[in-house]
Amino acid sequence: MKNAFTVDLEEWFQGLTSTNPLVDQWPSFESRVVPATERLLAILREHGVTATFFVLGYVADQYPALIERVAAYGHEIGIHGYYHRFVYKLTPDEFAGEIDASIAALERITGKLPLGHRAPYFSVNATTPWAFDMLASRGLRYDSSVFPTKNMLYGFPGAPRFPYWMDEYDLWQFPAATVRLLGRNVPVAGGFYTRALPYRVIRKVIGRINAQNQPAIMYIHPWELDTGQRYNKVTLRERLTHYHGRRSVERKLHRLLSDFEFVPLQTLVEKMENVRNAEQPELAGMR
Ligand SMILES: [Zn+2]
Repeated sequence: MKNAFTVDLEEWFQGLTSTNPLVDQWPSFESRVVPATERLLAILREHGVTATFFVLGYVADQYPALIERVAAYGHEIGIHGYYHRFVYKLTPDEFAGEIDASIAALERITGKLPLGHRAPYFSVNATTPWAFDMLASRGLRYDSSVFPTKNMLYGFPGAPRFPYWMDEYDLWQFPAATVRLLGRNVPVAGGFYTRALPYRVIRKVIGRINAQNQPAIMYIHPWELDTGQRYNKVTLRERLTHYHGRRSVERKLHRLLSDFEFVPLQTLVEKMENVRNAEQPELAGMR
């Protein structure tokens, strides 16, 4: 069973909710994205894994050579907004500006239209159906932003747990991995959850998802590997969501990448489109 490994490529201060809005001050924070991403590229290479990198447009414009290197290693490049804003706090026009700027930044580097999108903070929900319409209208083929649960920052309770075709939006959806526990969907896909959970739990959950003949969609941020990064003005919540358990990440990542098979999301899209076209040949010419 092939799972998908995904990377949300951004600086620590772009993901941290207290520093994210301070765009004017971003240049004054220590940039650490290049060495952190290089570290991650080396680990992926060691395990022969290609992944999907959802790249923040701002980072792409600042470090085009880094993105070129990511693409040269065979990883898929997708978009992750331009300034890492919560989608549900944007107007449809502002969201269009975010995705158009990030598509343009990545096309300048790779010469290719990105196929996939991940919302910053997985911040799509029932109030943002226009976001999916806009992605499809730009020619994107999938989104991986639905978290079929509810937590402090995001969530889409009641959404399917496994990849599905969103017929009303003309887009594939790849929800982040969850486990059913006491009637609820509990996230295990990455970030705080994989830093906090023991590896044996993560392994068991992915095994359970694969036993249902479904891929697990996992994610990581380069800053999660960066144990040397310090910022002393974090809130209590950020201490958990951003910093807790960083020391265990690299060890868990090595085990994860050797225990399971991972491909970029693009590969799963192609596979699902082939299945759909075989089942419904009348749709074959549509996309
Ligand atoms: Zn992000």
